[in-house]
Amino acid sequence: MRRKFVAGNWKMNGSHPANAELLAGIQAARPFGCDVAVCVPYPYLSETAVALAGSEVRWGAQDVSVHANGAYTGEVSAGMLAEFGCRYVIVGHSERRQYHGETDQQVADKAKAALAKGLTPIVCVGETLAEREAEQTEAVVKRQLSVVIHALGPCAGEMVVAYEPVWAIGTGKVATPEQAQAVHALMRAQLKAATPRADAMQLLYGGSMKPDNAAALMSQPDIDGGLIGGASLKAADFVAICRAA
Ligand code: 13P
Repeated sequence: MRRKFVAGNWKMNGSHPANAELLAGIQAARPFGCDVAVCVPYPYLSETAVALAGSEVRWGAQDVSVHANGAYTGEVSAGMLAEFGCRYVIVGHSERRQYHGETDQQVADKAKAALAKGLTPIVCVGETLAEREAEQTEAVVKRQLSVVIHALGPCAGEMVVAYEPVWAIGTGKVATPEQAQAVHALMRAQLKAATPRADAMQLLYGGSMKPDNAAALMSQPDIDGGLIGGASLKAADFVAICRAA
């Protein structure tokens, strides 16, 4: 039996007062019957660690460098994230692939860098609307995942994978439970061929998951939770999704 996992991706949102209110709202709703985490902007890791210290709610970042240290202005290493108590780091979010030109190989290298420092990478994959319309969904997801599987080798079973169809992110257009389950089943099958841990791995869905559609998505056999954008910025919505898990 896999535990459900609900992770908030705050993206580039937050402020000291807003974070304090949001984190207090999440804390007040404990205990949760599932794994819960928030992935916050780098400058807020410290206050998040303080606010969540000793609680079951975990935290993480939204990106990581492939490098361990050195002359890489603006980058943040996995070792630094580990020092701030991060348990997770999102890698390969479609916004990074799209706006920062991250390649499948860079995403795989980031996942590897995270694991090397004991962080769990939440690896995002997913097709664009044009790719779905061209019936390329399966091929795109398979390609994105295979590069990561290959890079991680025997550690592939340690990652979390998030299927985030690009057309569903921030658009209010959610994949149907059947559409999402179909992709999750393909991913699980691909992972089974690569790692004996495939059946224990948490595969998340992301893209306009809200309190009113979360239960239907997460009741699918291969959907083990959600990666939540917009709805993770309001404690009531985020908590409601955690309750639905
Ligand atoms: P929304 O929930 O705002 O659609 O964002 C999903 C997402 O990109 C999470 O990483």
